[in-house]
Amino acid sequence: MAEAPKYIFVVGGVMSGIGKGVATSSIGKILKSKGFKVTAIKIDPYINVDAGTMNPTEHGETFVLDDGYECDQDMGNYERFLDETLPEINYMTTGRVYLEVIRRERNLEYKGKNVEVVPDIPLEVIRRITQAQQRANAEVTLIEVGGTIGEYQNIIFLEAARMLKQKYPRDVAVVMLSYVPIPGNIGEMKTKPTQYAARSLNSVGLQADVILARASQPLDEKRKEKIAIFCNIPPERVISAPDVESIYDVPANYEKDGMGDILCNILGLPPRDSDLRDWQKFVEASKNGKTTLQVAVVGKYFETGDFVLADSYISVLEAIKAAGYSQDAKVKLSYLDSEEYEKDPKKLEDLKNYDGVVVPGGFGSRGVEGIVLAIQYARENKIPYFGLCYGMQWMVVEYARNVAGLQGANTAEVNHDAPHVVIDIMPDQKEKMVKQDYGGTMRLGTYPCVLAPGSVAAEAYGKTQVHERHRHRYEVNPEYIKQIEEKGLVFSGKSPSGVLMEIAELPKSQHPFFLGTQYHPEFLSRPLTPHPLFVGFLKAAKERSLGK
Ligand code: GLN
Repeated sequence: MAEAPKYIFVVGGVMSGIGKGVATSSIGKILKSKGFKVTAIKIDPYINVDAGTMNPTEHGETFVLDDGYECDQDMGNYERFLDETLPEINYMTTGRVYLEVIRRERNLEYKGKNVEVVPDIPLEVIRRITQAQQRANAEVTLIEVGGTIGEYQNIIFLEAARMLKQKYPRDVAVVMLSYVPIPGNIGEMKTKPTQYAARSLNSVGLQADVILARASQPLDEKRKEKIAIFCNIPPERVISAPDVESIYDVPANYEKDGMGDILCNILGLPPRDSDLRDWQKFVEASKNGKTTLQVAVVGKYFETGDFVLADSYISVLEAIKAAGYSQDAKVKLSYLDSEEYEKDPKKLEDLKNYDGVVVPGGFGSRGVEGIVLAIQYARENKIPYFGLCYGMQWMVVEYARNVAGLQGANTAEVNHDAPHVVIDIMPDQKEKMVKQDYGGTMRLGTYPCVLAPGSVAAEAYGKTQVHERHRHRYEVNPEYIKQIEEKGLVFSGKSPSGVLMEIAELPKSQHPFFLGTQYHPEFLSRPLTPHPLFVGFLKAAKERSLGK
């Protein structure tokens, strides 16, 4: 352990959406591969106390940690790149920080002092950063500050960075991720926006130590020098970050410019060789898959204006891809809007062209009847199907309606007066709904699940007890289990008490892969250790593709 913990703040200039999360994860990956103990923190400048109350098309996927905290999707990137399980303290929002300061003020913890935005809010931010560092015993703590430099929202977090740097000048580094546009009509890379971003950063008392220049192309020497002079850093600390084929290419790409050693140098850490061999093997495998599998993701959180936003399901997509690589296959994902099937059921025929169908998690009633049609189609046409949370609940509803003869079966979430409420709300959840106590109150985080020996699930996992992360309010209604099981659907995973149904599946003899989980397996999939159920699903998809 280095004598003093080191902190790296990653901030964004010019505009959002240029990949701060991947940049932070990649820097962490490089430092971890050098043998340092690393942890990563995400700060979101929202009033929302957690990410659980935000619509995925607004904010992207809500990621769930082991301890049940609902957070930003970047936490998923960190877990995947670093192969670490991160705790709640590693994520904070403006709302979270204020809530804590106000709570402590109410508890007289400030001992009669006048509590002020500055310094008390940044001090709370620093307190949380320090706690996360201690908890992980990290030699290097990365802190990604959400938003863009120059906006009002994140200023208080930049103030925390400034205060920490003032206290430990040698132990804090600032990496600015910037965007260098190449306007079509000029065809030349323009550095001015980056220069302004660097100055805005200066105006809050911070100087970038490293500038990552995101662009569609690599930086040339001339631009590198220009950025160096105008942004007040040595040219070797301006790192080219061009678009790459896969986000997993980024660590090696940064290392080409010596990112790891540059940071060690700034922070006074001993230089060490990085070892990205296993990672690179996986990156290569991800590009050289022999077969290409076509997987349909049927859902509803895709549209934002004229764009398709795959970010709503980022962990699902990464889990599918990772499992594909393990099968020597590339996966081509298509995002299909379930509402289309409601408008025109003939479109269901298109699903025949896919090797597998996934229905990911979701909420509410829009598009659900289209989802039922897609599931029925996959079941009847023996297309491998994998349902995640809402995708499992609708799989049960579909089976109840179309096989178990429970006409009008539904989930209470959509129609609590349905003749057969096969997915229902648990009594403790009902109470919360009555009190409108929505934030952070679902069944969240890791729970154990016991698998039936010999089931498709148990075969895939290779064991009969697993722990998985949850995020839902509704459950399979115990009153209908017998009737549904008698008609062939198997509840092969249950809570240890046997009350909650965690996995539903059809036996292999009846369907190549028809399985749904009440939990979210995607949150535990990591690039080098893909999730066993995603692997099982992709194996079945591959068999279908080869048999075609
Ligand atoms: N809406 C469902 C529930 O609350 C499923 C949630 C999900 O898919 N994450 O139980």
